Amino acid sequence: MQAMMDALVKTEAKKGLVLQRMPVPEPGMGEVRIKIHKTAICGTDVHIYNWDPWSQEHIHPPMIVGHEYVGEIEKLGEGVTAYHVGQIVSGEGHIVCGHCRNCRAGNGQWCKFTKGVGVDRSGAFAEYIVIPAHNVIPIPEGIDEDVVSFFDAFGNATHTALMFDMIGEDVLITGAGPIGMMATAICKKNGARSVVVTDINDYRLELCKKMGATQTVNVSRDKVEDIFAERRIVEGFDVGLEMSGSGSALNTMIENMRNGGKIALLGIQQPGTQINWNHVIWKGLTLQGIYGRKMFETWYKMITMVEGAWILRPSSRTDFTIRTLTRALRL
Ligand SMILES: [Zn+2]
Ligand SMILES: [Zn+2]
Repeated sequence: MQAMMDALVKTEAKKGLVLQRMPVPEPGMGEVRIKIHKTAICGTDVHIYNWDPWSQEHIHPPMIVGHEYVGEIEKLGEGVTAYHVGQIVSGEGHIVCGHCRNCRAGNGQWCKFTKGVGVDRSGAFAEYIVIPAHNVIPIPEGIDEDVVSFFDAFGNATHTALMFDMIGEDVLITGAGPIGMMATAICKKNGARSVVVTDINDYRLELCKKMGATQTVNVSRDKVEDIFAERRIVEGFDVGLEMSGSGSALNTMIENMRNGGKIALLGIQQPGTQINWNHVIWKGLTLQGIYGRKMFETWYKMITMVEGAWILRPSSRTDFTIRTLTRALRL
């Protein structure tokens, strides 16, 4: 008889998710089956729950959703030798083709033929998930599983924050959501001279201060350029990390960059967003789009950043992932 498991499923093309019994997936050749311990909720899952235009285009029900998780390998498919049953792992949520130009160059995050876990194929909001062994991320002993369950998003923050050299740079982060908060700590840890965070939510800006922001600006009241004198920023920001998806935040960032400055774009902009292209041209700005995590360099960096801090504070435990990461990444 087919073994069954609980799973959260997008059963129909409408708002909502349904908890229902689904078959336990069998690992094929080169795949592993992971018993899920913990998951985290991504913005993508909220889009899918709400059945917004993006999900209507990308999700074909029935689909088990979820792609941020930690668990243990429970069964190895044929030919998998690099991992063992019982190993604590997470998984890269993009399953790439492995033979296109980008994949072969080690840039799997740009694979045109990528399939998303919990989007194009069965996801992690279930008792078990099957993924290719290539996507397995082994987790060293001692890292809190609450933190690991959130590594997918931490990876977005790490990928964006480490796109450009940070040492001695004045950094502007627009958007104080969880990813902006984590990026704040990563920039500080990686040698930024100052990290200025903007948002319109005082509570979130306060959390950014706890993550090590040099200064925060609520742009519904104040202007970011007004802090330049106090922070001795003479020519503008060297690096910008756009994490809000707000067109006005992006424009403010472009206006306040130093000539030759570099911007990493993670926030998803509304269609039709306009920017002042002549600022980009005359200032010689670099704009770099960010997607997912570098495969698999970002994972290596994030594990070592957390692990390095953990060794200093092995007893750190909390029930709130952001706070846990603050502590883990604290300077
Ligand atoms: Zn995610
Ligand atoms: Zn590819």
